[in-house]
Amino acid sequence: MLFNSQEYFLRYSAFTIATQALRGHRGWQPAWRDAAPAPAYDVVIIGGGGHGLATAFYLAKHHKPGRIAVLEKGWLGNGSIGRNTTIIRSNYLLPGNLPFYELSMKLWEGLEQEVNYNAMVSQRGVYNLYHSDAQRDSYARRGNAMRLHGIDAELLDRDALRQQIPYLAYDNARFPIQGALLQKRGGTVRHDAVAWGYARAADRLGVDIIQNCEVTAIRQEHGKAIGVETTRGYIGAKKLGVAVAGASSLVAAMAGLRLPIESHALQAFVSEALKPLVHSVITFGAGHFYISQSDKGGLVFGGDIDGYNSYAARGNLPTIEDVCEGGMAMLPAIGRARLVRHWGGIMDMTMDGSPIIDKTPVENLFLNAGWCYGGFKATPASGFCFAHLIARGTPHDVAAAYRLDRFAEGKLIDEKGSGAQPNLH
Ligand SMILES: Cc1cc2nc3c(=O)[nH]c(=O)nc-3n(C[C@H](O)[C@H](O)[C@H](O)COP(=O)(O)OP(=O)(O)OC[C@H]3O[C@@H](n4cnc5c(N)ncnc54)[C@H](O)[C@@H]3O)c2cc1C
Repeated sequence: MLFNSQEYFLRYSAFTIATQALRGHRGWQPAWRDAAPAPAYDVVIIGGGGHGLATAFYLAKHHKPGRIAVLEKGWLGNGSIGRNTTIIRSNYLLPGNLPFYELSMKLWEGLEQEVNYNAMVSQRGVYNLYHSDAQRDSYARRGNAMRLHGIDAELLDRDALRQQIPYLAYDNARFPIQGALLQKRGGTVRHDAVAWGYARAADRLGVDIIQNCEVTAIRQEHGKAIGVETTRGYIGAKKLGVAVAGASSLVAAMAGLRLPIESHALQAFVSEALKPLVHSVITFGAGHFYISQSDKGGLVFGGDIDGYNSYAARGNLPTIEDVCEGGMAMLPAIGRARLVRHWGGIMDMTMDGSPIIDKTPVENLFLNAGWCYGGFKATPASGFCFAHLIARGTPHDVAAAYRLDRFAEGKLIDEKGSGAQPNLH
């Protein structure tokens, strides 16, 4: 079933929903086909997370390279795309990052129309709190860099912030709150709806989305990638894109590559449903803690990675304690809420905290990796730029700095200037 514009645009219209309601909702079709693998494709994307699906969608929409497949070892949404705390923003400092994340923000702003799917994009504002004069100065610098790139940023003093968010612990003895850097266009997006939206739209453009299909080896001939061994048989590919996030080092090793990446667990937490309290995204500036409130009422929050290498999608108690301490220092009322859910995901942490979108030394093998714990907000631009790279063989302008060899060349993109350790980014 290929693209049919009328069907595509009407399928989730108000008219269709009303018609389906009258028919007892018995007429809905699956959102995407359950495709069986073909013997070969022009492009195979390994990994059906947000980045892999976005890549397939933009490839099919803008570049039309021929037959495209996304191979996913589990089900769509099982990875970090369905585990993150849903925050989007483009409040970066460095030239290598700013235009890329702003492209992502612009794509978020048009995403629901583009893929005809309600992803609950909510530009509710992101506040980064500052707690000292030095931190205010560094946020002022970041805000100025954003504004010079045409990105919205406001530096709020304590009184202005207090008017907007009165319930924070402004007079905390250790970490008094002095103000915040605000990006009003930042916010949240329903994470798994992003995977479903891209999957459905890519399927409509003819992309085969193949679940329960784990890649177990990458076949090469004369230094060129020519296909993949999978749990559903061999699949040939003229071009191969790797977008497996937390499993990047494992899949790259199948092609004999060793990446500048460590894998770490990151945890997320959700409280019982409460009446509306936190109307935006707030990040604590004296530790690592960020919070928003979901539309169902749960407070959604998180903090740091666990800080040791692991492929186990769960975390440990010291990090839970650290996150809760950050929450209590910033928003003491959180101590009255009961925690109802908590889980972990695997982060592909680079040594400078920035990602990789590049060719590899193996011909026809392309790499999208190293998203650390900021990859959700990057999903649209990552897919857009990776599709560009795979189709044209040259990097997109806004992703040109995300090279694999920058660690050897000393051209790091270290937003925090904190050095080569994943737990510092
Ligand atoms: C707790 C938590 C909170 C986070 N919060 C935020 C946030 O607020 N904002 C933000 O911007 N980012 C956040 N992130 C980071 C963000 O979620 C990730 O950087 C991003 O989702 C990674 O890209 P992805 O969606 O493609 O990954 P994934 O969804 O993990 O997709 C990779 C896919 O590859 C598949 N795969 C792996 N190996 C193979 C194989 N051999 N064969 C076939 N398929 C394979 C996996 O099954 C998986 O589905 C958070 C992450 C976590 C875990």
